[in-house]
Amino acid sequence: MDFGACHICPRSCGANRRVAAGFCHAPSEPEIASICVHKGEEPPISGAKGICNLFFAHCNLQCVFCQNHDISGTAVDKDKIFYKDLDSVVDRIAEVLQTSENMLGFVSPSHYAYVIPELMERLHERGLFPTTVYNTNGYDDVETLQMVEPYVDIYLPDLKYMDSALAQKYSHAADYPEKAAKALQEMFRQKGSALPCDDGVAFRGIIIRHLVLPGAVENSIKCLEWIADNLSTNLHISLMSQYFPPKQLLDGSMKDFPELTRTLSEDEYEQVKEKFYALGFHKGWVQELASNESFRPDFSKKEAFGN
Ligand code: SF4
Repeated sequence: MDFGACHICPRSCGANRRVAAGFCHAPSEPEIASICVHKGEEPPISGAKGICNLFFAHCNLQCVFCQNHDISGTAVDKDKIFYKDLDSVVDRIAEVLQTSENMLGFVSPSHYAYVIPELMERLHERGLFPTTVYNTNGYDDVETLQMVEPYVDIYLPDLKYMDSALAQKYSHAADYPEKAAKALQEMFRQKGSALPCDDGVAFRGIIIRHLVLPGAVENSIKCLEWIADNLSTNLHISLMSQYFPPKQLLDGSMKDFPELTRTLSEDEYEQVKEKFYALGFHKGWVQELASNESFRPDFSKKEAFGN
């Protein structure tokens, strides 16, 4: 990876990450906040025993409503970085895979995607061949996705916005709709619409997540319409109602988003669900509205269908 000028994500900000911070504030050497078993993903991703999730620190999107602000914001607390060298990362993954499903999730990988090929080669040398999940915010570069194609089995992207003004306001990325559309089309080219499973655990495919934001029903409907019109209604969709105002919006450190200081209303969610079914989606999960009482996804409170 040439860090003379970083263009690995759609920000394409050209930072030399060895010496200076780009938009994501991620240095060239990978910084990883956590590698642990996670049971809160969609059922074919978590399985019965949970997935080994690797949480990259920093983020290329910087959403104002991020629930992981401590490890993803521009001022990541260095005490929260636990892994920096690939040897210790491989050791820890090997340890976690002993108790988890044979699944490895890369969480927020867009700015560290170049680490994945070497990491996977090292795991293969150790005789470890987990199914890999690319769990991303959707703001991904097409060439980067082609680079990781041989190493990724399942894409788990968000589709956050199809409203450019909203994407600019909440994630400083007016081009998110255009870039995420290209990224999802590339994922679809690679994996298609099927989500084949073995004993209830997926080994290939795509699940698209969409989090409904308060006051943004039209954006949600545009996202669902885009998937139906440009990809397929046969895809598995994970419709999420769990939005909960994070502490940076409640403690006054970000003051310009009063509309995001509440949870989703029942009426808002019903409008999106109605459109979801009307468009013909029939595979995936629809989260119960009560899920916004917790900070984390809880798919035990999801209505599953068409699996
Ligand atoms: S990964 Fe970071 S440094 Fe590289 S282009 Fe994206 S925001 Fe800029």
